[in-house]
Amino acid sequence: MTETIRNKWVVTSAWPYVNAIPHLGNMIGSVLSADVFARYLRLKGNEVIFVSGSDSHGTPVAVAAKKQNVPAKELAMKNHKTIKNLFKLWNISYDNYTVTHNPTHIKFVQDFYLDIQKNGYIFEKEIESLFCKKDNLYLPDRFVEGICPHCEYENARGDQCDNCQKLLVPSELKNPRCAICESTPEIRNTKHWYMNFPKLQDRLEKLINENKIIPQNARQMCLNSIAEGLPERAITRDLEWGIPAKFKGAENKTIYVWFEAVLGYVSAVKEWAEKIVNQPKKFDNFWKDKNTKSVYFIGKDNIIFHLIVFPGLLIAFNDDKSESEKLVLPYNVSSTEFLMYENEKFSKSRGVGIWIDEALELAPLDYWRFNLIYNRPEKSDTSFLWSEFDNNIKTLNDVIGNFIHRTLTFIIKQFDGKIPKKIDLDNTDKEFISKISSIGDIVGNALENFELRKAIRDTVKFAREGNVYLNDKAPWHLIKEKKEAAGHVFNICAQAVYALAVLFGPFIPDTSKKILDYLNIQKELNDLGWNSIGENSLFAGHTINKPKPLFQKLDIKDIQEKYIKLKEKEEGKSDVEMISYDDFKKLDIRVALIENVEKVKKAENLLKLTIDLGTEKRTIVAGLAKYYKANELIGKKIIVLANLEPKKLRGITSHGMLLAAEDEKTVSILIPDKDVAPGSKVL
Ligand SMILES: [Zn+2]
Ligand SMILES: [Zn+2]
Repeated sequence: MTETIRNKWVVTSAWPYVNAIPHLGNMIGSVLSADVFARYLRLKGNEVIFVSGSDSHGTPVAVAAKKQNVPAKELAMKNHKTIKNLFKLWNISYDNYTVTHNPTHIKFVQDFYLDIQKNGYIFEKEIESLFCKKDNLYLPDRFVEGICPHCEYENARGDQCDNCQKLLVPSELKNPRCAICESTPEIRNTKHWYMNFPKLQDRLEKLINENKIIPQNARQMCLNSIAEGLPERAITRDLEWGIPAKFKGAENKTIYVWFEAVLGYVSAVKEWAEKIVNQPKKFDNFWKDKNTKSVYFIGKDNIIFHLIVFPGLLIAFNDDKSESEKLVLPYNVSSTEFLMYENEKFSKSRGVGIWIDEALELAPLDYWRFNLIYNRPEKSDTSFLWSEFDNNIKTLNDVIGNFIHRTLTFIIKQFDGKIPKKIDLDNTDKEFISKISSIGDIVGNALENFELRKAIRDTVKFAREGNVYLNDKAPWHLIKEKKEAAGHVFNICAQAVYALAVLFGPFIPDTSKKILDYLNIQKELNDLGWNSIGENSLFAGHTINKPKPLFQKLDIKDIQEKYIKLKEKEEGKSDVEMISYDDFKKLDIRVALIENVEKVKKAENLLKLTIDLGTEKRTIVAGLAKYYKANELIGKKIIVLANLEPKKLRGITSHGMLLAAEDEKTVSILIPDKDVAPGSKVL
């Protein structure tokens, strides 16, 4: 047995930005990984608080709200609700998933600021900033667009260029324009308050050097950044949407998201203690005990924030506090590399990747959890691949499901559902039993080292060994003559099934629960505990329930087809955009008479139409074969977009597009209500 790490833990995952639904990469990068770890710690009997929340302030949501003409708060809270609900559906076991726009957090941040100001870590400075006279608004990062100074891309944003990815500041943009009204902004002077990170430089360096457990890559990244010299950072900004800066001279200013969102790790526990469990002291119990271990599950792009910026704020805050009032500094981070989708970067606008709401429409949750942890990008960027997803569905069915189902159905059929007795052990038994006794430590050690990928793979390997043991022993041959000997094998296999139920607890909790149900164990998993895994977890004579297959086989082609349909639907949605009357005038829409119709070879749904446009005849290709027969169409007058650039479909060039209405069931072509001549213009 490894030493049990019975401790107090604050487990956190990075705060998702409220303006976007997380994708699979965000999920494994922080949320799901943290959930696995928190679930494991609870199983080990630790005191655990697991928190995060939606990062609800800042410019992207403010810009989106202005464009939709709704208050930023309304949009942020609506999105937060959606994300929170999705995490619930993903079985993420947060004790508190909150949002930065909550009264506890807002007050905490405002007080925190005053404390570090009093402690001498803040100075003020006047800077030049862009201002839109029309909107009466300073224009921070995303509120400005313009030409990128590096690559000349025309729609670069004030914080970053989407084309060359370079980080920018608004004043670097050429021909800057207001992102709301497109007018040219002017330069104005404005005063801001800054965090004096250079003053913390030495203490942060010492902190990094003394922390022996943070991963080597993270340490190096931090030391490099310290060696370059830590920059001062503006805490206030001229933005309406955010936490109001409550101090003299800063009226109408808000606190920068970088400053307040990380403090959410602290305030979320405070909110939980005060409002969810109604025991305010519990906050001190976690955050003000120097033995509490706080751990942060984040993507690699977030390391500096969690090991330098956040501890810097805590050190500045702790400066004048007594030992019992100090907030505990980070214990460790677990950072991941990036997850890609089929070797491409996730991109909503290009329709690349799977988002967590879509995933649940495509396959049951535990298939996703299993697949993501199995391929967690720990050492290098990793791709989600459909082929691997397919393999993992097979592993769940053929390795894990198979072992458990064979064992349990045999006990039901041959032993009346009662766990049979063990008799004398031979070497094969001993070998497998020693695996049952050690698997808890093997998987536990991997988890304690944040090697989630190894942990789940070790668990799968153990199930494979179960299958090998069962096949070696072939108890079905023994059942007639030596029923006891067959029962002996199934006793040992049942112990392994129990082990799998516990081992899968952190990874695929729904599946773990099902196995425990089949084993007829009423106790909650956390009450059983990780250390209940062993060779005698189940007693002979214990009655089990009749199992159903644990997993279902899924056809990966079907899932992929569904996925493509989801993406098409989404594209349709995002194409809706206002156009001007001048845009509309560009469309040449006319009445045409269908003279002839042919099916297009090797294309199920395509028809080739010959049409009369009054002054000319044309060929167009339309996807109508599922809805119309050729003779239903000939002689009909239809509406055609005549000035669409020609497009080749299955080798036939289509000169225009007919207009049709579509709902979920059918497609209907548009026809003029009265008899008008072919070529008539549609206005
Ligand atoms: Zn650029
Ligand atoms: Zn403007």
